Amino acid sequence: RASRAGVLVVGTGEAGVRVATTLRELGDDRPIVLCGDEPHPPYQRPPLSKAFLDGTAGHADLVLRTPEFFRDAGIEVRTGRRVTDVEVDGSGGGSAMCEGGDTVEFDQLVLATGARSRPLPVDGRDLDGVCALRGLDDAERLRERLITARRVVIVGGGYIGLEAAALASTRGLAVTIVEREDRVLSRVSADPLPAFLAERHREWGVEFEFGADVREIVGDGQRVQGVRLAGGRELPADLVLVGIGAVPETTLAEKLGLEVRRGIVVDAACRTSHPRVWAVGDCTVQPHPHLPGELIGVESVQNANDQARAAAAALAGIEPPRPPVPWFWSDQRDLKVQIAGISDGYDQYVVRGTSEPTVLYYRDGALIAAEAVNRPKDFLAAKRALAKGQTIAPEAAADPATPLKELITDRG
Ligand code: FAD
Repeated sequence: RASRAGVLVVGTGEAGVRVATTLRELGDDRPIVLCGDEPHPPYQRPPLSKAFLDGTAGHADLVLRTPEFFRDAGIEVRTGRRVTDVEVDGSGGGSAMCEGGDTVEFDQLVLATGARSRPLPVDGRDLDGVCALRGLDDAERLRERLITARRVVIVGGGYIGLEAAALASTRGLAVTIVEREDRVLSRVSADPLPAFLAERHREWGVEFEFGADVREIVGDGQRVQGVRLAGGRELPADLVLVGIGAVPETTLAEKLGLEVRRGIVVDAACRTSHPRVWAVGDCTVQPHPHLPGELIGVESVQNANDQARAAAAALAGIEPPRPPVPWFWSDQRDLKVQIAGISDGYDQYVVRGTSEPTVLYYRDGALIAAEAVNRPKDFLAAKRALAKGQTIAPEAAADPATPLKELITDRG
């Protein structure tokens, strides 16, 4: 079957859906086709490691937009259709081949292909009881396993591992997080937040193996029985969750010869190295806000939505909105962690409060990021300062008695 679209969006996640809905909000009435390889209607991922895994949210709570919404908006959603090949001409038009033989001719192309779970490159990774957590199918498998599991090993102390550990430990399961570095969240945070979270998790009964490398996942040939660490020690497990990060999905971008450096390289309007092909969300890397020449990938709902808005504006021929402040959240039992800004490249940090800390990150004396635990006012004040290009005096910020919003000043 051959069909035609004004705009073809590959990927039906947060970013792909937002491109399509923003185009409609901007009055673009061309035919839009959203093509995704997963069999499910477009859904949200954050609850997969939170309320959905917990069993307090079901499929209906994950829905990004209803089928009626898409129908009324004239957006065609094709699920279960992997785009296997794509060709683009100089004007950005071209054609895409889908699994099953469909082809879609398009005038403009947006890649919103997201990311895949990074596989753990050791023997035993395919044993029954070894799980990842990226998509709805993964979450369903893990949710079911958690009902019967007794000993869980989580490989990777990132946000997904911590959220899963917080949940598994509420059920009285024995949970161990194995982390190669000497703390959790080592890629994104300075010491204070990782130390605080590890301490809380320990109080919940979670154990940590830091500086530990998994060499093999062991089993009886069929079912998982544990993980073997470098040095030979074995941790018994009947469920292993691998949460060691995500790899941007760039296969189509590479086929098109686009510039790919870990993710698809895009500019502020989410243009790829082909000036008429756009890419948005977890599959991209963009210039770093305060480190010239560096590219970063931000895996968050906010980034997916804001990049999608920028791309849709550019596609509709409108000036893209000003780049917003990146933000992110994580729920771990009674803890809500909120993050604003990008802390990479910080040269100083200030900790505010001791029980549930706020950490403010600075570069050359100016605020660049903040992490807040159960302190939404701190988070909002920092986000507001960052949005206006302002700062918060580090000396005064350490005193939790002074509201941060009273300390916002122009940069010196
Ligand atoms: P995705 O949602 O990954 O969507 C991309 C889609 O494209 C996928 O369905 C993929 O299968 C499909 N695709 C890929 N290649 C093809 C192809 N060739 N043809 C067709 N389809 C294709 N962010 C937060 O801000 N806060 C949170 O608390 C939070 N929690 C999270 C918890 C979990 C368990 C996970 C996995 C992520 C979480 N995130 C969170 C991150 C956030 O969900 C992602 O940043 C966001 O979903 C990215 O959206 P996306 O559209 O770029 O990619």
